[in-house]
Amino acid sequence: MADVKFLKVTKKFNENVILNGVSVEIKDHEFVVIVGPSGCGKTTLLRMLAGLEEITAGDIHIDNILVNNIHPSKRQIAMVFQDYALYPHMTVEENMSFALRLMKMDKREISARVHEAAAILQLTKLLKRMPKQLSGGQRQRVAIGRAIVRKPKVFLFDEPLSNLDAKLREEMRVEIAKLYQRLNATIIYVTHDQVEAMTLAGRIVVMNHGIIQQTGTPIEVYRKPDNLFVAGFIGSPTMNFLHGKLSAEGEKLFLKNDSLTLYIPPFLLADGARNAGREVVLGIRPDDVLVGSGTRENCSEKIEGVLEVSELLGHRENLYIKAGENRVLATVEAFFNQSPGSKVSVRFNYRNMHVFDKKTQQRINN
Ligand code: ATP
Repeated sequence: MADVKFLKVTKKFNENVILNGVSVEIKDHEFVVIVGPSGCGKTTLLRMLAGLEEITAGDIHIDNILVNNIHPSKRQIAMVFQDYALYPHMTVEENMSFALRLMKMDKREISARVHEAAAILQLTKLLKRMPKQLSGGQRQRVAIGRAIVRKPKVFLFDEPLSNLDAKLREEMRVEIAKLYQRLNATIIYVTHDQVEAMTLAGRIVVMNHGIIQQTGTPIEVYRKPDNLFVAGFIGSPTMNFLHGKLSAEGEKLFLKNDSLTLYIPPFLLADGARNAGREVVLGIRPDDVLVGSGTRENCSEKIEGVLEVSELLGHRENLYIKAGENRVLATVEAFFNQSPGSKVSVRFNYRNMHVFDKKTQQRINN
């Protein structure tokens, strides 16, 4: 296995800058998920690492060797694609052994590797089948098997679960997590699905518009998003945002907008009065919006609102609440038992609140 370094990697297609000075180090045996919206440059980054795309500027190292000009076949990388890319006229076994046969590897070694990978992926009974006789999940397992038999230094996964339905996607996600534990490999996995990123990654790299927005463990990125983009992209349902201006009254600081005055405690924003006049966005996750009466420690005063819609999810329920001009989503335990139009009051948990500067979009609280 190997570590991988991207150093100020830039990619232009014609004059369009697709990746802009991307630097990230991926350690040996790490499972790194690169996540971001469609078109942000994730696949291009993987393709450059695999040698399938030229690098406009910057360097890529695998195991401390500069690979910018090394042929793809010599990089010891295996890539698993979204569309499986299986050969339709070959059996599962032939598909899995194809690259090894091309390398003219010893037949017994090929057979051993294919059977070992098939056992890991529960494909042993399917080795003689053709791809068209397999389900989507089985085909994706064959594509993964084809990567495993090559014993690469680094596995690259490019949205491998996108073509599967929701249930199968969940199952395969668990399979990939188990596979990682078993192979103990270096994996770089690209997805636009933040749930995949949160559940699979040892470390997440969040990208937007060809720029890394934040790198960290899933919990770091979830609990302390560096900027508004990461805050809105990571977490489901999405974080609530309240826009307004900070205003000081004596020693006290408040967020004010047309229909809300919200006290901002010093433990949330130290040196608060210095920020008076600043336009900010407060971020609060739906789980940290508490609904109903009663006082709660570290929470805001009650804010009165009206329930617009409720969605029952099973043991949880999403409540869409309008408080003046502010819209807030609260996720609470089922069953809330109130009809749309009912009055509800909410409180915000200050301990998990985020403050972003509206202009720079960067986080300004600790
Ligand atoms: P998705 O999740 O939709 O696959 P992505 O984040 O992987 O998106 P890329 O496939 O890396 O994004 O594409 C990044 C940008 O580069 C897109 O705007 C795309 O249109 C552009 N692009 C990709 N390949 C080429 C190419 N060969 N020529 C010109 N533009 C390209």
